[in-house]
Amino acid sequence: MTSERIWAPWRLSYVQHDKSVSEPDASQVDLLPGADPGCFLCRAAACEDHQQVLVVLRGTHCVTLLNRYPYNNGHLLVAPRRHVGQLSRLDPETHLELSLTVARMTEVLRKLLNAQGFNVGLNLGRAAGAGVPDHLHWHIVPRWTGDTNFMPTLAGINVIPQSLEALWESLRAEVQTCPASQAARPARLG
Ligand SMILES: [Zn+2]
Repeated sequence: MTSERIWAPWRLSYVQHDKSVSEPDASQVDLLPGADPGCFLCRAAACEDHQQVLVVLRGTHCVTLLNRYPYNNGHLLVAPRRHVGQLSRLDPETHLELSLTVARMTEVLRKLLNAQGFNVGLNLGRAAGAGVPDHLHWHIVPRWTGDTNFMPTLAGINVIPQSLEALWESLRAEVQTCPASQAARPARLG
């Protein structure tokens, strides 16, 4: 069953009149070495206007942004900043930061949206469903008990109740109050 999305009606006029929500083109962004100008994750990894690219958090090696085409409210993407499509090409520091960021973001979404569960996953390669197979990205989809009932089940429609812009602002604020995982601190051995 194909799934459509319903947005709050007031959002449409907002999107049409506010250039800040449109994607920047590559000429507006000072891309990182090795970046693909046509890749939205590369643009998000480098664009200084975080709101325009919906970036919630940018770390040393990875970037977290809201998915413009969410499966559910609060659907995040966590990606390495480099344009890399294979896990084996990531260095250990990037692997670690990616994993810690996924952990941190589930806590942020749990606190902010009262998420009760998450689907966290990586589509590795086009055959596995990756829309951008050359740039790795993990999906974090918040879940609530019963969220697959009613509208999605009956009509193939997901209702997204909050605008991306409002959600971006809330997430940016929440990330600041939710520190990196305990696991980010050096373990005391012995
Ligand atoms: Zn890329």
